[in-house]
This record gives sequence, C-alpha cells and structure tokens, in this order.
Amino acid sequence: GLPPYDENNIFARILRGEIPSKRVHEDEWAVAFHDIAPQAPTHVLVIPRGAYVSLADFATRGSEAEVAGFWRAVATVAKSLGLEDAGYRTLSNMGRAAGQEVPHFHVHLFGGRPLGPMLV
Ligand code: 5GP
Repeated sequence: GLPPYDENNIFARILRGEIPSKRVHEDEWAVAFHDIAPQAPTHVLVIPRGAYVSLADFATRGSEAEVAGFWRAVATVAKSLGLEDAGYRTLSNMGRAAGQEVPHFHVHLFGGRPLGPMLV
C-alpha cells in the first residue's frame, strides 16, 4: 500500500514557505517552481496544494476539482513559460522503484530544447 503522507517532506516545506524556491506559478490548486537540479533549460515541478504522496494517492483521494485544477495548472505553466509552441514533456515518477524521491505528488515539466525520444 501507499506510505502515509510525511508533513515534513521537502515539497511540503516549500509549500509552507519554510524552504525557498523559485516559484513560477501559484493558484488555488497548484504551485510550480524551478527544479533545483534542472535536466533541461526549463525544468519545473508542479505540485498540488493538497497532501498527496503520489499520483496513485492523488487519483484516489483528490476531488474532481483538485484533479482538474491541478492538470489545468500544468498546461497553464507550460504555456506561460513559452513552451507550448516548441513542445514540452511532462513526467511523474510514481513510487520509489520508479525513481520518486520526494513523497509529495509532483509533475516534472521539461522544455527549452529538443527532447529526443522518450527514455523509460
Ligand atoms: P522525483 O525523483 O521525486 O521524481 O523528483 C524530485 C525532484 O525534486 C528532483 O528532480 C530534484 O532535483 C528536485 N528537488 C529535490 N529537492 C529539491 C529542493 O529542495 N528544491 C527544488 N526546487 N527541487 C528539489
């Protein structure tokens, strides 16, 4: 099963403003900020305001409004960063075996260069 939500995970602390981040967007449902170790010219993380461990948790417990608002925010952020015309990639690691390090659901947003074939 899913682990319980850790209120002191790094993204929870970023949400509370206890740790600085370079925010590029915030609204009722989501906050977006630059990844500390960017893997593309634009590498932003989009997270819901709610306390969800992973995509599975978000999809199970998130309300329709939260899920819709979050995914709209992902696309809004991409557009506002000027990524829409050239294209961009979204990615979410679900669980430790998939490489999820931070246990607050997040979507990576990559852009600003040709992204090449998807590598899994
Ligand atoms: P995951 O492996 O969980 O999918 O991705 C976690 C991401 O969070 C990584 O790309 C990592 O560079 C980023 N990250 C980890 N700690 C911090 C931090 O304190 N601030 C920011 N802005 N990004 C972080």
